[in-house]
Amino acid sequence: MTAKTGPVPSGKTAAVPAVLLAHHLKQLKLPTILREHEKVAREAARDGVDHVRYLLRLVELELLDRERRVTERRIGEAKFPTVKSLDTFDFAAIPSLNRMLTLELVRCEYVAGRENVIALGNSGTGKTHVALALGLAACQRGFSTLFLTAHALASQLMEARDEKRLLKLQAQLQNVKLLIVDELGYVPLSQVGAELLFEVFSQRYERGSTIVTSNLPFEEWPAVFRSERLTGALLDRLTHHVHILEMNGESYRLKQSAGRRTAARAEPPKATAHQDHAAAPGEHDRDPHAASQPS
Ligand code: ADP
Ligand code: MG
Repeated sequence: MTAKTGPVPSGKTAAVPAVLLAHHLKQLKLPTILREHEKVAREAARDGVDHVRYLLRLVELELLDRERRVTERRIGEAKFPTVKSLDTFDFAAIPSLNRMLTLELVRCEYVAGRENVIALGNSGTGKTHVALALGLAACQRGFSTLFLTAHALASQLMEARDEKRLLKLQAQLQNVKLLIVDELGYVPLSQVGAELLFEVFSQRYERGSTIVTSNLPFEEWPAVFRSERLTGALLDRLTHHVHILEMNGESYRLKQSAGRRTAARAEPPKATAHQDHAAAPGEHDRDPHAASQPS
């Protein structure tokens, strides 16, 4: 093998092997071994560990770190607006949601099986939260993931079409293992946007998993896609292998801010000074039909 090692420092000092080792470890892209080898060597000497175990320990550390780095990169590439998991999800707040099914979905077998998930329900019931949690779980289990709102996806597709790079974008969208399309129905799509979005779902059919969240029941999807025929074909593909999460209920945000207001009335004013993320009035219940302005 003719490895490209670059100029090797000369000299007969005791530091030479260490310098060479550092150089080679960088070349081999083993940053954890580079960082840890001296410390682990001291521990090995202290504990009387033989050289095979010493090497094994170092390689294990490198592997663990590498997995962590790859997962972090995958999470970055998924473009989640925020990172959320089910650890912070209160199932009691949304009795319509099938808890067992949701917990099973977190294991991501549906991604391996190229099945879809559709979360339906009114605003503020945790659909995006659950979709984000499923996306995070998929990243942690090694599946490439991409999160977009339906509106952003349609815009990106139209932009790509105008710039003659639609095929490239479509190929990217087809290859991702889990595509999450959030908020279908909040903003009406243009005719072209609807058709391009349909093509994405169509191209992913039985090739990869898609999660869709929507505030609209299926009967109202034709209004979003502007065509009964297109919607029929879309639902046919999307619901062939599907897990439906029913998420109708009270808005979590509304309930929280109502709770805070009650608490504020019961307590002295000081206690209300830190009201933080109570949703702004109107934020939770966007009227899907009024929101025709692109956000
Ligand atoms: P939706 O997408 O259904 O409109 P979101 O997922 O955006 O609702 O939820 C609104 C806010 O309330 C988010 O900050 C979310 O994390 C929180 N939330 C909603 N439902 C729950 C729940 N059951 N437990 C914990 N937080 C929740
Ligand atoms: Mg949402």
